[in-house]
Amino acid sequence: MDLRLDGIHHSYGTTEVLSDISLDIPAGQIVCIVGPSGCGKSTLLRFIGGLEQPTRGAVLQVGTPPEGCLNPLTYVFQDFALLPWRSVRGNVAFALAPHGLERAREDAIIADVLARTKLTDFADALPKQISGGMKQRVAIARALAVRPAVMLMDEPLSALDSQTRELLMDDLIALWTRTPFTAVYVTHNLAEAVRLGHKIVVLSRRPGKIREVVEIETPLGARRYDDPELIEAETRLWQLMRDEAAAADAELLHV
Ligand code: ADP
Ligand code: MG
Repeated sequence: MDLRLDGIHHSYGTTEVLSDISLDIPAGQIVCIVGPSGCGKSTLLRFIGGLEQPTRGAVLQVGTPPEGCLNPLTYVFQDFALLPWRSVRGNVAFALAPHGLERAREDAIIADVLARTKLTDFADALPKQISGGMKQRVAIARALAVRPAVMLMDEPLSALDSQTRELLMDDLIALWTRTPFTAVYVTHNLAEAVRLGHKIVVLSRRPGKIREVVEIETPLGARRYDDPELIEAETRLWQLMRDEAAAADAELLHV
């Protein structure tokens, strides 16, 4: 299933937050969204997930969700959003509970997603007993458990230290390489975007408009930091961010 964002505009009161966002999110791709703080990235993700409605425009689901999909759109948040009193397995089971699956099917799904996120040995641990990186892997396992069509990831690595971030990027690439998933991946980290994105959508300062879409051809599993395509893409993203910051400064001087 693809997603199509069609002419999304949004204002909170008199504050225009997003302007004319049209974008395709093809199945099997990770589409990164980058842009200055406050430009409307998280707001856009809420519209995609249907948590809020934009003032104008629509989010269209094109095609059918994957086989066995229980919930087409699932979130992964920066702060993990785990239930502290439930074990790793219990947190994943919580996402499946509303779907009333047979016990054996539920157990099989949980075993599969815990294996894919390298958490099998930690199934009985509580969130407080595991590291930040593992907590985020639990949140990813929970999101994958419902076989979503699209995962909506809002700064999923931003609460983690830089080494953990690197390792989790490797994990995400390995996960995607084994079973490609579709994601809209919001980040303010440009290196992360070029490492993980098939397509990187650059939003302007608020109201967020699409400034540019940077596509990266190098397959996810083959990306290296010294890959000229990645260096060129990251340089371009930095240039766009500097332009936005300079334009914001110039606006401040003229009010
Ligand atoms: P980002 O994730 O890119 O940093 P957000 O999407 O969180 O930006 O916010 C975009 C803008 O919309 C900000 O100026 C923020 O203050 C404003 N905003 C976000 N949510 C609300 C809300 N519920 N009511 C009013 N303003 C909001
Ligand atoms: Mg945000």
